[in-house]
Amino acid sequence: MKLAFAKSVLDHPSLVLNRSWIAIHVTTVRRALCLLYSEAAVVVDTESLQTFDFDGWFRWDRSPSDRWVRTPGIRIAAPEVIQLRAYNKVPAYDAPFTRRNLFERDGHMCQYCGARVGSDRLSIDHVTPRSKGGKTSWDNCVLACVRCNSTKGDRTVREAGLRLLRQPKPPRWTPYLNLKRSEHLESWAKFTTPARSRIAKS
Ligand SMILES: [Zn+2]
Repeated sequence: MKLAFAKSVLDHPSLVLNRSWIAIHVTTVRRALCLLYSEAAVVVDTESLQTFDFDGWFRWDRSPSDRWVRTPGIRIAAPEVIQLRAYNKVPAYDAPFTRRNLFERDGHMCQYCGARVGSDRLSIDHVTPRSKGGKTSWDNCVLACVRCNSTKGDRTVREAGLRLLRQPKPPRWTPYLNLKRSEHLESWAKFTTPARSRIAKS
């Protein structure tokens, strides 16, 4: 297929879902149409959630948007969401160690007693205390409530008689959710999860 269409619409974003309907990526309308044409993807109608192959999508003329790709010969709606036919993974990357990401990983919950006491009453605890050589890292930091933090003090988990709900480790996240809010199309809302789920729970 020759894509000699108006540039602007082809450069619009198109959300890519994997076979399990998980948003994994954002591409351009140009690339989405190529994937559709090569039968690697189908278009998802964001209202009905019906899927269309190239021929079906080409005949479909109820695009709710003004996102039409036009040439002198043909007109086709610019896909807002496509679904890959074969790919079923969720690409993930190491998340940077930040206070905010740590809160996301630990679900805003004390990792010793499970209390959800509010962000202002949670602090970052070094599992192996810094005084004993513990690093500030994904493997050694967890959220702890005020009570557990003061119980633990400068001791190890075992010394303090506490137990971790789970062993801390680096989380993974998916790249789509790094997008700025302004880069989201409204119709994507039902396919994307709130920012809290940005970091894959393990
Ligand atoms: Zn606690």
